[in-house]
Amino acid sequence: MPCAGLGQLHDLGKSVPAVGLPLSKGWQDMPESVICPGCGARVPREEGPTHRYLLAAPACWRLYGEVLARRLAFVAVQPDRYPVDAYAVQHPGVPGPQASQSVLVHLVSLGLMFERGASPRVATRTMAALVSANKGKFRWLEPPAAMGGMTVVDVAVTDSESDLDRLVVEWARAAWDAWSPQHETVRRFYPRA
Ligand SMILES: [Zn+2]
Repeated sequence: MPCAGLGQLHDLGKSVPAVGLPLSKGWQDMPESVICPGCGARVPREEGPTHRYLLAAPACWRLYGEVLARRLAFVAVQPDRYPVDAYAVQHPGVPGPQASQSVLVHLVSLGLMFERGASPRVATRTMAALVSANKGKFRWLEPPAAMGGMTVVDVAVTDSESDLDRLVVEWARAAWDAWSPQHETVRRFYPRA
């Protein structure tokens, strides 16, 4: 089985689907919608690529790609940790070495940013160090029953770029909060202060 190395972390931010058609208003009430198996958002039913192990509905994966693409244009400091981490922890997939690692390191990143005020750059460095020190040894964290009050859909619907910036952080916060039963475990992986 191929290892989910650091490259995998970056893949999550980069290997996104082509930007599709804009959302048309009202699709959430239409019968042609599905519930994303990861985040629980209601999204249009459509065919398309999705991530290898995150288990997302194709439309949810597409909207994520659109959010990342829009932010690429104006986020001053890359990497853009908030949407990448939020999406990863809201789409934990099923137990396995890659999924277990993904959930844990993305939770550590969110925790460091929200609880310790770490910069995205520091969070990324910590993730890299964790992966190289623990590759293949990450335990599966049982996901929460609900993934929080916001998903990528709530972010993707805005037309305003400044709202997008705010909503992405709120979304990441909601994703982090949803995992509160596992926060104690996640904190054990923080670097010593
Ligand atoms: Zn989803």
